[in-house]
Amino acid sequence: MPEIQANINDKETNIEDIKKLVADFVNERDWSQYHTPKSLATAISIEAAELLEHFLFKPDSHIPPDMEAFTDEIADIMIYLLSLSNTLKIDNLAEIIYRKMGKNRLKYPVEKFAGDKYSKQSG
Ligand SMILES: [Mg+2]
Repeated sequence: MPEIQANINDKETNIEDIKKLVADFVNERDWSQYHTPKSLATAISIEAAELLEHFLFKPDSHIPPDMEAFTDEIADIMIYLLSLSNTLKIDNLAEIIYRKMGKNRLKYPVEKFAGDKYSKQSG
């Protein structure tokens, strides 16, 4: 198993660093030829299904007991998302996420959707 750097944490790691980590891994193996947008989108969906497998036939309150295996699937999804962004040269992921969250705020205003208001919406 590769050594994990002790100083890696969300607060001090930026998206560009992780995108480069993924790009270096892909390029070292000459895998960019396989990392087409369609293949990467497919891989994201497959990894999302692997994440769901941890909840299959379990109650809604289930927390996966093997958190390393579970978080490996979260990492797989994010790695493929970053690789897709690398392939398509999308270099403003933070901006895209903030922009989409802004759209979500407009679509789901707190006054109308907070708590159980969402489930009581008609139609
Ligand atoms: Mg996986």
